[in-house]
Amino acid sequence: MYLIFTLIILTTLIGFSNDFMHSNLAALIISLVLAAIFLQKRKKLKKPEINQIVSSQTYSGQDLQKNYIDQIEDLIIVINSFNIVTFANMAAKTFYSPNIIGKNIISLIRIPELTDKIDDCRFKKKSQHMEFEQKLPILQFFKVRISNLNEQSLMLVVKNYTEIKKAETLRSDFIANVSHQLKTPLVSIKGFLESIAGPAKDDATAQQKFIKIMQEESNKMEDLIEDLMSLSRIESQAHIQPKDKVDIEIILNNLIETTIKLAEKKHISVEFNSNHNNNYVLGDGVKITEVFQNILDNAIKYSDKNKKIYISTFVKKGILEKEAIGISIKDQGMGISREEIHRITERFYRAENAIKNKIKGTGLGLSIAKHIINQHRGDLQIVSKLGEGSEFIIYFLKY
Ligand code: ADP
Repeated sequence: MYLIFTLIILTTLIGFSNDFMHSNLAALIISLVLAAIFLQKRKKLKKPEINQIVSSQTYSGQDLQKNYIDQIEDLIIVINSFNIVTFANMAAKTFYSPNIIGKNIISLIRIPELTDKIDDCRFKKKSQHMEFEQKLPILQFFKVRISNLNEQSLMLVVKNYTEIKKAETLRSDFIANVSHQLKTPLVSIKGFLESIAGPAKDDATAQQKFIKIMQEESNKMEDLIEDLMSLSRIESQAHIQPKDKVDIEIILNNLIETTIKLAEKKHISVEFNSNHNNNYVLGDGVKITEVFQNILDNAIKYSDKNKKIYISTFVKKGILEKEAIGISIKDQGMGISREEIHRITERFYRAENAIKNKIKGTGLGLSIAKHIINQHRGDLQIVSKLGEGSEFIIYFLKY
């Protein structure tokens, strides 16, 4: 009604407004009319029908509770006095079965201790806690809290804490490993110091020999501390992707120049073939150098005399989120067994070849390399055959 009336006024006014004054007046009237329509609409919203619509859209407390319980990651299960499941949230249904209602809890969680805890909770009227692990399909760890809901029903809240447990184990293993690796050279240094001060006090030849060993042991400790510092630095920056323009060719040429002496000592030659195109990648030059350094040092360390190392770069599509540059470092060394390849980037892991041949190392070099590559959103592929050699292919995003 209002709209038709407005349109009539508007058409009349605009029709007659053939000078500037009139068109201004028309604009003013249009604004007033629109404001009136808007106010009328607002007024309409207050009518009882609207109130009814609003009340029908209200979210009930019950809906809210159900939704909230279904969002919770912990498994929530309610059982009756016969231990039969009467309620399960979405997490419990997803974990056990959508048809969990009506099943006996003991048939779901097959842990004898659970029956005792349920009985204790019922008769002592006191919440009970227990932990259990499930081996199949994979090892998982759970914590359960059982509490009384009412005379008949009990509520079980089952928390899967596998990830926390894994992190805890990793941390304690790490500390144990570091302590062990630092203690071994330290004990040896202390032993030799005691010999120099005691039985070998007057034996210059023995003293010289012991001092040399102590120097080697302290170098080991220094290497380990440097690697640990490097690892913790990289871990703390894991989420920051470095984005400088880095020329891989320059880095590799510099690296070969500084490492060649080490290789020549073993009569190992290093051959570098670049794709001679655009070799720029996205990253941090210092960190990328550290990756190549660790892998090239290993190629020399785990190769016999008179062998060759081949380094090459190439462009590859479809391996990372956008075009990548691949860098291959290939040696003719002792190689890694198939069972161990996937483990050599783990912290402190040293393959049998390294231990058997008493080759020095901390077991941290490749773990550092892998962390740096991940931080760069790159990739590392390792191909190796025991007794024949290894190839490490690193991919970085093209700049
Ligand atoms: P390490 O200080 O022991 O060299 P890394 O983390 O660099 O530690 O390497 C882990 C293990 O992987 C080594 O101990 C070795 O067993 C194996 N490895 C690494 N690179 C090579 C290679 N080029 N050839 C054979 N084995 C290798």
